[in-house]
Amino acid sequence: MSQKVAIVTGGNKGIGYAIVKGLCEKYKGKVYLTSRDEGRGKAAVASLKALGLNPSFYQLDIDDQSSVDKFRDYIKENYSSIDVLINNAAIAFKTEATEPFALQAEVTINTNYFGTLRVLEALIPLLGQDARIVNVSSSAGHLSRIPSDELKKKFRDPNLTVEELNTLMKEFVRSTKEGLDVSTTWGNSTYVVSKVGVSALSRVHQKMLDNEVPSRNIYVNSVHPGYVDTDMTSHKGPLTIEEGAVGPLFLALESHGLKGQYVWKDCSVID
Ligand code: NDP
Repeated sequence: MSQKVAIVTGGNKGIGYAIVKGLCEKYKGKVYLTSRDEGRGKAAVASLKALGLNPSFYQLDIDDQSSVDKFRDYIKENYSSIDVLINNAAIAFKTEATEPFALQAEVTINTNYFGTLRVLEALIPLLGQDARIVNVSSSAGHLSRIPSDELKKKFRDPNLTVEELNTLMKEFVRSTKEGLDVSTTWGNSTYVVSKVGVSALSRVHQKMLDNEVPSRNIYVNSVHPGYVDTDMTSHKGPLTIEEGAVGPLFLALESHGLKGQYVWKDCSVID
């Protein structure tokens, strides 16, 4: 019951898989590889076991509230608290995707932003003293990627709340559905908007958790893992998945004192 627990979303492949691998090698506690697909998740666990590592598996689809609730209940029943939560799961439409922009916007924001938020809202109450949340963002999640100064100001607002951030994300999706030209406001990438949302959410949650009384001293940071050779990049990224896991593992295990920061792949803090 008092065993320490680390959880990774989207752990069946890519950077998430390498994060699980790194945690199994370095973290003194139980490591959960979660995956939306049971077959893919169990196969990933088997391949790590073949390397002499010992992750556990649980099904977790960040788009599915009942899946998230089931996982939360399982953790609550079996462990006293969560020590490390790495929100890695995400999607990205390919540049050549033919789906309408509004559909891409809705699907991308739903998974990358609202799916991540769903997991956080379910699991934050279970985080223990000094726990760490690592949100895998992207270079695309840097605020400079949003063209509009007015929007930038809203994202940057130190008093931004989760509700206001949710409204911003919904506003973007609504604008695309209304067929508005968003190129000079939100820009032309749904992935960018979703990841700017994730970076901002990290800061908003840090502030929210810092205001807790009594404080659990929780660390919330986001990270750009680098351009990595995975299915998401159609294997064009130069970094290996292990190299992509360096930043997330640093924030999970080593980043003494960093709070509410956006960290680059070399572990440096970026404004
Ligand atoms: P992959 O596409 O290789 O892996 C994504 C993982 O997320 C898969 O395990 C996938 O599961 C999972 N996933 C997607 N949707 C859901 C869902 N609804 N519920 C649970 N799991 C889900 O991507 P990467 O490894 O490249 O990306 C990992 C993270 O790093 C992402 O957050 C990405 O945005 C970020 N990133 C990646 C970069 C890169 O260069 N690769 C650069 C910057 C950021 P399934 O196998 O079932 O599809």
